[in-house]
Amino acid sequence: MLMNDGSLALAGADNGDPLYVIEESPLLERQKEQESNARSYPRRIPLALKKGKGVYVEDVEGRTYIDCLAGAGALVLGHNHPVVIDAMRRVLDNDLPLLTLDLSTPIKDQFVQDLFSLLPESMRHQVKIQFCGPSGTDATEAALKLVRTATGRSMILSFHGAYHGMSQGALSLMGNLGPKTPLGAILNNNVQFLPYPYDFRCPFGLGGEQGIRANLNYIENLLTDPESGVQLPAGVIVEAIQGEGGVIPADLDWLRGLRRITEAAGIPLIVDEIQTGFGRTGTMFAFERAGIMPDAIILSKAIGGSLPLAVLVYSDQLDTWRPGAHAGTFRGNQLAMAAGSAVMAYLIGHDIPSHASAMGMRLRSHLQELQRTYPQLGDVRGRGLMLGVELVDPDQIPNVQGHYPSDGRLAARVQQECLKRGLILETGGRHSSVIRFLPPLIVSEEEIDRIAVIFGNALVAALQKKAE
Ligand code: PMP
Repeated sequence: MLMNDGSLALAGADNGDPLYVIEESPLLERQKEQESNARSYPRRIPLALKKGKGVYVEDVEGRTYIDCLAGAGALVLGHNHPVVIDAMRRVLDNDLPLLTLDLSTPIKDQFVQDLFSLLPESMRHQVKIQFCGPSGTDATEAALKLVRTATGRSMILSFHGAYHGMSQGALSLMGNLGPKTPLGAILNNNVQFLPYPYDFRCPFGLGGEQGIRANLNYIENLLTDPESGVQLPAGVIVEAIQGEGGVIPADLDWLRGLRRITEAAGIPLIVDEIQTGFGRTGTMFAFERAGIMPDAIILSKAIGGSLPLAVLVYSDQLDTWRPGAHAGTFRGNQLAMAAGSAVMAYLIGHDIPSHASAMGMRLRSHLQELQRTYPQLGDVRGRGLMLGVELVDPDQIPNVQGHYPSDGRLAARVQQECLKRGLILETGGRHSSVIRFLPPLIVSEEEIDRIAVIFGNALVAALQKKAE
């Protein structure tokens, strides 16, 4: 049962309680009947939720869960954090306009000051901000238009495994072919894909420093060889840690190398911080760890304090697009901006990025402990509280790096066993073989330990089922 103060008497197998029997409620039946075939999360997480507080959610059957999906990483302060609720209440209690297009308001002005103050010192006085339509994918669209306009070039370089959103421009940048294939030739115009430094499955079969060197050499050669067949691009877009691609952190030297190469070639570097931004990876922004300065940053998810908001922050030198070049009705969500400012104040005031870093290390060491017993946990990786475990099948033949093939079926079974034990997790990566941990950043040590225990029990149960 989830109490109003967010506390919880945890249920689940380890308390000797019965496992949840996840069966279809009437709401889910109706959802299946009425909602689009394109619906995604309910297929793997068949829950109808009625309450959320902190790291917990409660479903309509009264079952409670630790939420390690947390709005796909958006809920950095968890569900209904008091500072977020208070900020929204102040807007509502004062007759403030809720929707203002892109007109200025005191709330918006405050949001911009707060956001700029989070940027590295050398950046914050030379940037502009564009408020985008409310989802991350629209910030991606804006970034593409910005760099194409500013450079007069059209080609964009993206990476294998990339995820930048689901609208058609953003989709063109996506590594995963699944959602792209049915759309055929309208996508992929003017996008060239580069190898991402995925150490565990190095695209050069090398891994480590050698893999990084080969990767950077490939990119540099592609941009400088007059016969590479690739035109000078309008921009390069990259995630410092790929999320949907399978929680793959880019090596920091590689990020620095990419910045050096793009700078030398005069190519704007767009860093997608939509999932990694706002403390998720242990620093306010993931790119900061490499000490690089992007030319443009796209942000969404956490910045609206659980409400939709997306922005593009970019070097003022790129600001050559025309008035109205990226318009949209819902760019003035005052509730989201007020909530976003409250989130920023809390992140700074409570040094949440450091807490995320410490909790991430704690969870990672639990997972590594499990890895010593279970070879099926092929790779434990990530930064801060953006962690992933790539599941593999040790009964198959290893690749050139000595790593076994990924095992998406096992990952799906582990996910279901976690759900029965009151833990919501998502899978991602190649063949959906990566279990992803994206808890709210306010998660406590006890909750981290509990997550690890449930995950361990779920893994044992899933492996037993596989053996049967
Ligand atoms: N970029 C990244 C890195 C993301 O993780 C996501 C969402 N998972 C997006 C862009 C797209 O954001 P949205 O779903 O709000 O359009």
